Amino acid sequence: MGTKVNILGVHVDAVTMAEAVAQVEMCIMAKKGVLIATANAEMIMRATHDAELMEILNAAELVVPDGAGTVWAARHLGHAMPERVAGYDLAQELMRKAPEEGQRVFFFGSAPGVAEKAKVKAEALYPGISICGTRNGFFKEEDTPAIIESIRAAEPDILLAALGVPKQEKWLWKNRTALGVPVSIGVGGTLDVMAGVMKRAPHWMQRAKLEWLFRGMLQPKRAGRLLALPEFVLKVHASKS
Ligand code: UDP
Repeated sequence: MGTKVNILGVHVDAVTMAEAVAQVEMCIMAKKGVLIATANAEMIMRATHDAELMEILNAAELVVPDGAGTVWAARHLGHAMPERVAGYDLAQELMRKAPEEGQRVFFFGSAPGVAEKAKVKAEALYPGISICGTRNGFFKEEDTPAIIESIRAAEPDILLAALGVPKQEKWLWKNRTALGVPVSIGVGGTLDVMAGVMKRAPHWMQRAKLEWLFRGMLQPKRAGRLLALPEFVLKVHASKS
């Protein structure tokens, strides 16, 4: 276990992508039934006024630094943070290794049809991969037992849940015992990107640490959420003692 960095109360793991992958692999082998979270600035800001989310993040096995904002905050607070570990990239790394390890992956979330398209994409990108089941992310509370049953029956090693923040974290945490899946990860828009429904920022924008701006431009309804970023910067700065 590496170092955790406290950013506005959320304890984020100071890990590289390679270390995060290695830790997830260990959890899969140990079949512990853990939750992995990918913390960007927006998620951390939300946790500051959502006590349940804060508690879940701090109980998660691993919280990776997703996004330039999280990496900046850790460094601004005087801690080492090796690199950004985006949830999308972590999911791809795990899927790339899954065939040789014989690991099964379940896609849960996004609009009807998206997870199936993402499955076709995964099968093309990672030959031999077993996407053992899919389920869209729009459901009523009373559908939960049936969803859990279908996930259990598919026996995945990794459950990728794309229900948005904080729904995915809360659902995975609440149902972790019933699910019995070794590793569950909240992956936000990952299935949308894989299915081609949503684009990721071009590499130059990611390198310029502007992925957040790209997402805000592409989804105007999210633009309001961009305000969380300057607020995040101010809060992190104020928390520096
Ligand atoms: N989503 C879902 N169920 C819901 C709400 C959202 O499956 O009840 C999906 C949505 O279709 C999208 C994903 O969750 O594929 C992530 O949504 P968003 O980009 O709003 O979330 P965030 O950026 O907060 O992870």
